[in-house]
Amino acid sequence: ADLKNADLKSLAELGQGNGGSVEKVEHVPSGTIMAKKIVLIDAKPSVRKQILRELQIMHSCRSPFIVSSYGAFLAEPNICICMEFMDKGSFDGVYKKVGAIPIDVVRQVAFSVLEGLMYLYDVHRIIHRDIKPSNILFNSLGEIKLCDFGVSGELINSIAHTFVGTSIYMSPERIQGAEYSVKSDVWSLGISLIELAQGRFPFASTSDSDDENDSDLEDTGAKTERQQTWHARTHSTGVSLDGGGMTMSIIELMHQIVKEPAPRLRFAGSPEEFVDACLLKDPEERKTPKELLKYAWMQQALRSTFDLKAWASTF
Ligand code: ADP
Ligand code: MG
Repeated sequence: ADLKNADLKSLAELGQGNGGSVEKVEHVPSGTIMAKKIVLIDAKPSVRKQILRELQIMHSCRSPFIVSSYGAFLAEPNICICMEFMDKGSFDGVYKKVGAIPIDVVRQVAFSVLEGLMYLYDVHRIIHRDIKPSNILFNSLGEIKLCDFGVSGELINSIAHTFVGTSIYMSPERIQGAEYSVKSDVWSLGISLIELAQGRFPFASTSDSDDENDSDLEDTGAKTERQQTWHARTHSTGVSLDGGGMTMSIIELMHQIVKEPAPRLRFAGSPEEFVDACLLKDPEERKTPKELLKYAWMQQALRSTFDLKAWASTF
């Protein structure tokens, strides 16, 4: 049966992002709980139809590492996408709630994201394009799944003007204008893993170290006001290049990503080796998801008996 707004009862607001918002809803005829993403689009009717066709790909994704889709429909001037509701939310929310994520969990996140990326690319020839903690979801069964992948080129083009396609997880080559590749997603994964393991975004604003001293670099607890601003604004509303006070700090960040050595996961042995391979600045040298799955840390993930379900029940 076709999905329509009349059948969906709104239960709670789950969050706001770049192009829209996400609600927890009940599909009343079936009693199914879903997450409904509402995207305000700026496009002609023909383009809207094209977007809906492209979203069909999402509907055909069947993988334990990809959030499943119930379908999408137009509700002028929005597009609504109904997907599997993940009751533990996204990993940015998880670490903001529980603090730095245990390394065993970070390892399983890495493994799940790589498996998800492999599935999208091998089966559907899709590059995700927006890997970040808020697009990695968790549920109380202990499942880790990706959402919000770039199924629709037209949708990406049509998300209203506020979205400029800039992300703080962007790879150095993307910042410099190169085409997207699956290796850009690998970079974003590396940054996301450090963020989860440390409980904070790994880049620090350079002007903070100008007017303060550098001694707090290792102090994961202390956040400067500017970092928090970055964090809050880039996570909740997306990066707006004309957003007044943001302009300098986002350019500063982009400069750091391109010019400074990549951040590292300070966790000796296989986790460090793995994240270093994700964050090689030259995309030619950086590893592919397939290569990364052969790393020692991912082999441990494959054999892991860590109980994600039990961990999920702790918060
Ligand atoms: P962003 O990913 O940039 O935060 P989104 O609009 O994509 O913005 O999502 C907003 C929030 O909604 C996310 O941060 C996430 O916590 C929540 N969310 C998205 N999809 C789901 C889902 N399927 N189940 C549960 N929560 C979700
Ligand atoms: Mg998202």
